[in-house]
Amino acid sequence: MKNIGFIGVGNMGGPMARNLLKAGFAVKAFDLSAEAVAAVVAAGGTKAASAQEAATDVDLVVTMLPAGKHVRDVYLGAKGILAVARKGTVFVDSSTIDVKTAREVIKAAEAAGMLMLDAPVSGGVGGAENAALTFMVGGSDAAFAAAKPVLEKMGKKIVHAGGAGNGQVAKACNNMVLGITMTAISEAFVMAEKLGLAPQAMFDIVSASSGGCWALSNHCPVPGPVPTSAANRDYKPGFSAELMLKDLKLSQEAARAAGMSTPLGSEATALYSEFVNAGNGGLDYSAIIKLVRGETA
Ligand code: NAD
Repeated sequence: MKNIGFIGVGNMGGPMARNLLKAGFAVKAFDLSAEAVAAVVAAGGTKAASAQEAATDVDLVVTMLPAGKHVRDVYLGAKGILAVARKGTVFVDSSTIDVKTAREVIKAAEAAGMLMLDAPVSGGVGGAENAALTFMVGGSDAAFAAAKPVLEKMGKKIVHAGGAGNGQVAKACNNMVLGITMTAISEAFVMAEKLGLAPQAMFDIVSASSGGCWALSNHCPVPGPVPTSAANRDYKPGFSAELMLKDLKLSQEAARAAGMSTPLGSEATALYSEFVNAGNGGLDYSAIIKLVRGETA
């Protein structure tokens, strides 16, 4: 496995493609943005004139696109890549998309004689740059075995979550937890503040107690206790509220598909919708504390 096509080289895909180049793979990149492709070419990659060209005569193709409709179009559309790739090509879609589209596209890829995985990631742009992403992977054992050595050059933890679509199931569940916990700790900090408890004391106690959680320890929503958190830089992301809302909506789509309601997930989705609709989508997701404080419209 040597030649890789990479489609969608934006904030995440760009650094992921560059890590593959560093690891010695030949990478042919395509993106609607010429600037994004140029950054991969500057790192030693080559430019493809279309998605189809990026998927031609390569061993493996990674796609890192905004949403399900883009993935469907790139794979199955009029100029879709499944129609031109040679049989046996391995496809890895690392975009965060809905479970239904992921399963449909993998089914179509397998019917066309390809191997394909859904492999969304956690770890953000920093994780992409440092090859430290977590990959949550759905798909066949054969596809997983073929792609794992490539994924290991872009991530630290590669988990096979089961059959097609299960990577997206894991991602939706994980990010629903993150949206809920960030909202919960924001409510707790504002309540503590109003009742006279200083944020640092609140952090020291809760982070060492049963209310401690990843969102608090890494992305504390008030400035001070965690120097690297976005709260210390006016909530510049990080992980934007807009992307959190996207993932929460995907979690609610998944809940509907599962025939269940997730009241806390649903409430977190409503709060992030209100926050983003008030024009705050570009802030870090930890800025939801502003909504809790009543600081937004
Ligand atoms: P981005 O907007 O920076 O990159 C997406 C790229 O896809 C853009 O460069 C765009 O031009 C390109 N694109 C769109 N349609 C295309 C098409 N038809 N053909 C070729 N290129 C096309 O977004 P990103 O932050 O890199 O996110 C990519 C995916 O990763 C999303 O699904 C996102 O939810 C997920 N994700 C992002 C983060 C994060 O922190 N940014 C973290 C985890 C997962």
